Amino acid sequence: MGEQWIYLDGEFVRKEDAKISVFDHGFLYGDGVFEGIRVYNGNVYKLEEHLIRLYNSAKSIMLEIPYTMDEMTEIIVETLKKNELSDAYIRLVISRGVGNLGLDPASCSSPQIVVIAEELAIYPKEFYDNGLDIITVATRRNSPDVLSPKVKSLNYLNNILVKIEASLAGVSEALMLNNEGYVAEGSADNIFILRGGVLFTPPGYIGALEGITRQAIVELADELGYDLREEPFTRHDVYTADEVFLTGTAAEVIAVVKVDGRIIGDGKPGKETQRLLEAFREKVVEDGVRVYPSESEIEIG
Ligand code: PMP
Repeated sequence: MGEQWIYLDGEFVRKEDAKISVFDHGFLYGDGVFEGIRVYNGNVYKLEEHLIRLYNSAKSIMLEIPYTMDEMTEIIVETLKKNELSDAYIRLVISRGVGNLGLDPASCSSPQIVVIAEELAIYPKEFYDNGLDIITVATRRNSPDVLSPKVKSLNYLNNILVKIEASLAGVSEALMLNNEGYVAEGSADNIFILRGGVLFTPPGYIGALEGITRQAIVELADELGYDLREEPFTRHDVYTADEVFLTGTAAEVIAVVKVDGRIIGDGKPGKETQRLLEAFREKVVEDGVRVYPSESEIEIG
């Protein structure tokens, strides 16, 4: 990749020049929202769904995004073109903007819009071939009545603490429980388990991000004829599952083969997990907004 161009408040600037004020409330207080979006072969995957989640998160924290969804789509498309990327990861960040040192967002003049597009840092192949060894951690998912996990806010400390606990334990990912001890999600991914031929994923009210990949898998499972139930489950159910996998924009669908030292199934990525990953990958291009080859061909999909 040549020069990297960042969209920063209405213009494209070089990566080295993409700087924001220390008085930005995103920096001072984590006051803002974001999205992580993937581009497959020139098609922005589930762009509309990501934008809806972004605008809903913003609405929830009373942050008014100064662009319509169509305008935001244009900005994303332009950022990809400017960077000549067709397989990429996009980070969209909307912060409250520059204000004074007080907490009150009323001092912030206008939101700061940042779009970063870069080449995808794909997870190592052995993660998919061998599956993940994960743990559950002491850090609980923040409760929906405190800061709703449905808001994809710039406050990711909860998730960062999970990553720290995972690293200290020498594993790459970990599960959070909610306040009642039900399994919520990973640090940046949703969870599914397969037991006796039935797929389970925690329901929204457990307290987890409403993952776009999670929803895609729910729909795919339906198409493929799986019995899928959105029901709360515990660590015990995970330990005794036949298969476990995580879903997320970056990871797609990734098998888990060990949880807290308990081997899942036969200790290898499960057959159904593999099937769902393959089916997911077959659909990613058709479920995207096309960016290339020409502007006139841009379609919302
Ligand atoms: N949970 C959390 C906390 C996340 O940050 C993410 C990544 N956005 C996910 C789940 C997975 O969501 P998605 O499939 O939309 O990437």
